[in-house]
Amino acid sequence: MTSQRTRDRMLNRLREQGIKDEVVLSAIAGIPRHIFVDEALSIRAYEDVSLPIGFGQTISQPYIVARMSELLRNGQPLGKVLEIGTGCGYQTAVLSRISQEVYSVERIRPLVMKARGHLRELKCVNVKLDHADGNMGLSQLAPFDAIMVTAAASHIPQELLNQMTIGGRLVIPVGTDEQILCLVERLSASEYRQTKLETVKFVPLLGGTSAT
Ligand code: SAH
Repeated sequence: MTSQRTRDRMLNRLREQGIKDEVVLSAIAGIPRHIFVDEALSIRAYEDVSLPIGFGQTISQPYIVARMSELLRNGQPLGKVLEIGTGCGYQTAVLSRISQEVYSVERIRPLVMKARGHLRELKCVNVKLDHADGNMGLSQLAPFDAIMVTAAASHIPQELLNQMTIGGRLVIPVGTDEQILCLVERLSASEYRQTKLETVKFVPLLGGTSAT
């Protein structure tokens, strides 16, 4: 179930789905997705589906992890990256392999602990996790070359726009019933370009933090 063949099949499927960035594909190939889900679900870990991780949250579908990583990279090495919505840390692990440094914020404390364990096991040493409300970004560490939001926002939080470098990229699902994946590029101090890409399905971006 977690054999090399099963994992190779996932990679082939990602290529068929249009993922072209070899840096992203090789990062995904190197990260065992089954360690991020409960043992009972590990048989499904290499299917192209999101799976429950407890606390009403999910691990993202491999295709969307690949797609958002590819959009953020845009064929260039990534410097300092902020992720909003760590969850179990799967996307964070992929980002850690394709970026210089990664900061990831999660609002549910037990998920921060869970993700920390997984990232330690995979020796992702360039990652720092924070238990906080991602709507605020991480102002003390801004600006970021790239920001990825892995929960659906009703609108793009202004704080995240403020915390982008000029030339920086933000990938974020926007919407409530219908969600659209959006790419925002910061062109200058005051100009941003927004591109709507494809429909997606994420858990909602909520406000505040939760200790349980
Ligand atoms: N990146 C994850 C996806 C996890 S699901 C992966 O690789 O699978 C989205 C996560 O966003 C959930 O864990 C949820 O608790 C978190 N989240 C929702 N609103 C948030 C907010 N305002 N700040 C930080 N995390 C948030």
